[in-house]
Amino acid sequence: MTDIQHIVIAGSGILGLTTAWTLAENLSPAQNIKITVIGEYGPHCSNMNISMTSSNKYTSPWAGAHFRPFPSKSATEYSEMKLTRSTLAKFKEISQLFPESTIRFVKGIEVLESPDEYYRNVKPGWKEGIDGFKVTRNGNGGDGVMEAEYETWILNAPMYLQFIYRKLLIEYNVNFMKFRLKSLDQINDLFQENPVVIVNCTGTGLQYRGGYDPECYPIRGQTLLINPPKDCPYMDKTITYQLKDGSWSFVIPRPLNGGVILGGMKQVGDSFLGINEEDTEKLVEMQQENQD
Ligand SMILES: Cc1cc2nc3c(=O)[nH]c(=O)nc-3n(C[C@H](O)[C@H](O)[C@H](O)COP(=O)(O)OP(=O)(O)OC[C@H]3O[C@@H](n4cnc5c(N)ncnc54)[C@H](O)[C@@H]3O)c2cc1C
Repeated sequence: MTDIQHIVIAGSGILGLTTAWTLAENLSPAQNIKITVIGEYGPHCSNMNISMTSSNKYTSPWAGAHFRPFPSKSATEYSEMKLTRSTLAKFKEISQLFPESTIRFVKGIEVLESPDEYYRNVKPGWKEGIDGFKVTRNGNGGDGVMEAEYETWILNAPMYLQFIYRKLLIEYNVNFMKFRLKSLDQINDLFQENPVVIVNCTGTGLQYRGGYDPECYPIRGQTLLINPPKDCPYMDKTITYQLKDGSWSFVIPRPLNGGVILGGMKQVGDSFLGINEEDTEKLVEMQQENQD
């Protein structure tokens, strides 16, 4: 890394910001390497609506967000599981050092109406490295419902993004640029320093010579953010229901008065940007059924 003068990260969603933070923490000041983050949308945008939540071009603030472990169904999932445990350990550290990060550790509850054999047999990948994991209902009852609980993290996504952004800006002097790139190659024309190292965190995979990764496709999500009633019983836990019909429903409180997320839709190939009223009704219905 000795000849490198400048690292440019394309994309200012959670991946771009986390990459910038990891680099900033690990590079020595003596190396004198500049870091720039370029994003068309992100926490650096002065328009409040764009910096907090905006369009499908900046998905990070929309995330729930919580972590739920699950049994691995392939060697790839098993190796990715280990990465989630590294994140878990890092988040434990961040939550203790920086309460303003909004990361909190709470009880995670999993309710499976029709658990497959991976869940029923608690196959590898689910409980490893997870504190407080226990199966509380084994699925052998008449209704076949299985339940488990564990310790996990939740966070307030728009505020967590702002937290990292401010850290990068103020503590690490990272530069931010609001700019729409036509290609990654265009970065070479924007800066004098040479060589520039480019890290691609554009979500949909902007290509070096332009265009986007053809392997990428949209998945639409819709959630409800509610202002919880006083004494809401869900403020210290996150619950995920996997329903018989294959749909999912979850409750995620957002720390620091961020409301409660009720989720959620996962619609592969759908890039509709508006609010689908049918989805909203379904989300409310699912929550009502789960409470019965
Ligand atoms: C409703 C909803 C709920 C979700 N819930 C969860 C959850 O609970 N847990 C979870 O893990 N995930 C969840 N997700 C998914 C999660 O939000 C995304 O996977 C994640 O935020 C992607 O992060 P990213 O940094 O890759 O992309 P993004 O946050 O989309 O950022 C992409 C960045 O690249 C920039 N960019 C792209 N092209 C260009 C260009 N040409 N020029 C300049 N800049 C460019 C954008 O402006 C932006 O800054 C949810 C998503 C939605 C929509």
